[in-house]
This record gives sequence, C-alpha cells and structure tokens, in this order.
Amino acid sequence: MSTQETRTGIVWDYAPAPESPDHVRLRDSYGLFLDGDFRDPIDGTRVPSINPATEETLAEVAFAGPADIRRAVESARAAQPGWAALSGLERGKYLFRIARLIQERARELAVVESMDGGKPIRESRDVDVPLAAAHFFHYAGWADKLSYGVGGRKVEPLGVAAQIVPWNFPLLMAAWKLAPALACGNTAVLKPAETTPLTALFLAEICQEAELPPGVVSILPGDGSTGATLVREPDIDKVAFTGSTAVGKNIQAALAGRGVSLTLELGGKSANVIFEDAALDQAVEGIVNGIFFNQGHVCCAGSRLLIQESVADVVIGKLWERMGRLRVGDPLDKNTDVGAINSREQLTRIEELVAAGEEEGAVRRSVACELPERGWWFAPTIFTDVAPAHRIAVEEIFGPVVSVLTFRTQAEAIEKANNSPYGLAAGIWTDKGSKAFEVASALQAGVVWQNTYNHFDPSAAFGGYKESGFGREGGPAGLRPYLRAS
Ligand code: NDP
Repeated sequence: MSTQETRTGIVWDYAPAPESPDHVRLRDSYGLFLDGDFRDPIDGTRVPSINPATEETLAEVAFAGPADIRRAVESARAAQPGWAALSGLERGKYLFRIARLIQERARELAVVESMDGGKPIRESRDVDVPLAAAHFFHYAGWADKLSYGVGGRKVEPLGVAAQIVPWNFPLLMAAWKLAPALACGNTAVLKPAETTPLTALFLAEICQEAELPPGVVSILPGDGSTGATLVREPDIDKVAFTGSTAVGKNIQAALAGRGVSLTLELGGKSANVIFEDAALDQAVEGIVNGIFFNQGHVCCAGSRLLIQESVADVVIGKLWERMGRLRVGDPLDKNTDVGAINSREQLTRIEELVAAGEEEGAVRRSVACELPERGWWFAPTIFTDVAPAHRIAVEEIFGPVVSVLTFRTQAEAIEKANNSPYGLAAGIWTDKGSKAFEVASALQAGVVWQNTYNHFDPSAAFGGYKESGFGREGGPAGLRPYLRAS
C-alpha cells in the first residue's frame, strides 16, 4: 500500500481527460492530391482508413494506381523548373507559410494523427506536430543559403523527388522529406503509408492554403504496390525512403544503374547502454522513453537494453515498477502513455516475436493492465535472460517490448552494442564525460544520445549506418541529398 493510501484511505487515480475530436474537419472521402487539387483516381481504388483504437473507419481515401502515379510525376516534372527558378527567399516564404499553417491547425493535426495511427495525443500534440512545423521553419531558413550548407559550392536541385514514408510518424516523416526537398528547388511526389494517410492529406490542404504552385507537391496515398510503382517511374531523379530494411533493399535493387539518387532510413535495433555510474532513476525514465514512446513503433527505439551487471537487478527492479505505472489505452486521453498498436498486421508481428522470445528461453514479464476490448493493443513487456543470438535481441520488434542484456566492462558493452546488422541510434547513460565520448566514438550508430534518448531537433542530422541505411535528414546535412553540388 502506498503512503498516500495509508494516510487517506483513498486510492487516487487519474480522471479521464479525453481530447475532443469535435473540432476536426475530417472529410468523409479524400481524393489524390495532384496538380494542386484533390482528384479522383484514374486507375486507383478507394480504401477506408481505420482507427486502430476502435477499428472504426475514419474516412475513405483514394489509393493511386499506375496512371495516377504517372500523372503526378508529369505534373511534378512540369512544375520543377518554375519552382527552382524562384529565388531561395521566395521558396523560403512558402515553407514558412506551411510551417505557420501547421501551427494554426496543430490541435486538429494532433487529434487526427492519434486517431489514424494510435499514438497518445500527448505525443502527437507535443512532439510530432511541433517538430513537423519546426522542420518547415528550419528549411525555410536554408532556402536562400543553400550553398553555405554544402561548403560554399555551387548548387542545383536534383529535379523530381519520389518520397515514401512509414506509418509510425506520418506527418513528421512527411515534413522531414518535403521541407528539404522543396527548399532545394525540387518538386516532390509523396506516398504516405497505407494505414496512416490522413495527416499527409491535411498537409495537402495546407499546401493548397499556402498557395503552393500546382505540381510542386503531390500526395498519393497507396499501398506497397503504389510505392513500388513510384520508385520505378522513369522520370524521377531522387528517391527518399523511410521504412523497413527489406523494402529498402528492394528499392535499392530497383534503382541499380539508373542514376537516381537514393537515401534510405531503415530499421534499427538500437542499444541503450546503462553504466553503473549513471543516475539510475534518470536512466530508467530514459529507458521508458526509449522503448515505450509511440508504443515502440520507432525506428531508433532503444529496444536492446544493455545494463552493467553490477546494477542490473536494481535497474530492472526500478524499470519494472515504473512500467507498472504506464497508462495504456485511449490515445485521445491526455493521461495515456501507451496507445494502440498501429494495425492488426503489426500486432501479429509483435506477438510472433514475443512468442519466439519465450520459446528461446528468455524470461518474459508483461504489465498486467486492462486493455480495451476493441482495437489492437499490446501490454508493455520486458524480457530478461536474453542471449545475444535470440531473435528478440536481433530483430526489430517495433512494439512496446524491451530485451535486456548485461555486460561487465566498457569493452564488452561496445562489442555487444555493435553486434547488430543495424546501426541507427544508441544511448549512453553515465556521469563520466570521458567515458561517454569514448564509447560514443566506438559505437556504430548514426545518432548517439548521452543521458537522454529520442531527442530530436530539426538542426541535428539523423540517419543510419550498416543496414539502417544511408543519407541524413535534418540540419544542413539534410540538404545534401537534394542537391547537385559542383
Ligand atoms: P515497409 O517498409 O513495408 O513500409 C514503409 C513504406 O514503404 C510504406 O509507405 C509502404 O507502403 C511502402 N512500401 C511497401 N512495400 C514497398 C515496395 N515494395 N516498394 C516501395 N514502397 C513500399 O514497412 P511496414 O510498414 O510494413 O513495417 C514493417 C517493418 O518495417 C516494421 O515492423 C518495422 O520493423 C519496420 N519499419 C521501420 C520504420 C522506420 O522508421 N525505419 C518505419 C516503419 C516500419 P504501405 O504502408 O502501403 O505498405
């Protein structure tokens, strides 16, 4: 019994604090956004977008077919010279306008992001939407300074960019892709993920409202085959993809020998390394943020937790206690920490890997919490006694599941952290600055956070090593993939 219960005899709980969706201007049906307007598909289909927390249809969305994709690429090609001919200052004004409109519609965007994807409103409101606006602001500032971003060289845009984004950060990933592409004078055809097209379509409305010239941005919802067709279009100059390593490899093979520039932001199995000299309570918060943020649907999730053996029991004990206080449920409730799993398919993937973890001998503990009857949910889960060869230590689970491994020395920590085909991100928790620098420089990861995790800023480059991909998004480094420099 807690101290509070002893004193008052009352068990305190949070009252529900639901965000109302009443203000959301969601249409019943969306067309494809091309040539500056929403249009019926020529040879595509119409598919419902489902709320993963309720399994209810939110809106019907047009999916693009090959003729639609061809038309979008032609329109992007036609618009590109005019867009590139604008001064950087003028292009920057459009980006600035888009950023301001995102801010104006922030509340609506946050609610739609949570309803379409299942993430807690606290995250979409405080992270996804503000960061999406910040990316447009950031690249609005770069639009008239491009050559400074690449060491003073002369620059020109690549041309037409095909951009494919996943379902875990639908609006934010669209912003990561569109903002630098447009700032550099490219036009773009963006394909959102099958399960989360709605905020990208809101972004299309924002582009309209910002009076972006027709063809500069096209938004074509669709499934995997839409993405596969888009990257095989002959008249594109650039592909930027975020998603799974398997699909990334497939795209790379499809582009081989075509002279199309490619950036890939793929999966990860990032190590979060806790040294015995770390501030352990702070580290536990970082572990929670690293793996349970967005239900673990995060490419850089700290899903491999490496704890120094001398403090392993203490850290696991504190973590387990903290996990018990996570609130799982309605994504629109402002108290919710862990929302719905994005799709039935993703839930099946998580369940399969968790079952493999148990079969291979790791010890599983899942938080006992009441899960809603409808929708797709998975209770926060920790695996201990994990061996480096277990599937749960190797493969990306992409769910609220953390696998714990231990180490004795710094050298062993580095070896275990690097023992992965991936190399997207890592976390280091220690109060020794020299140790943090030494370990960070030995880790094969694109981003290394020290005494924090999942910390994002538009001015900082993000991207992977090894099978986590190549190319960087964010900051001046994020301009490079969209420019030809001489
Ligand atoms: P995918 O890689 O399949 O999807 C990412 C995007 O690519 C989506 O827009 C998808 O469309 C599209 N796509 C799918 N197949 C093709 C193709 N052959 N050619 C071109 N585009 C394609 O990821 P999933 O969403 O299926 O998730 C699977 C796993 O990928 C997850 O469990 C996770 O491990 C990892 N992942 C990693 C992400 C990251 O941020 N690095 C993000 C998402 C997933 P559609 O949605 O319609 O299938």
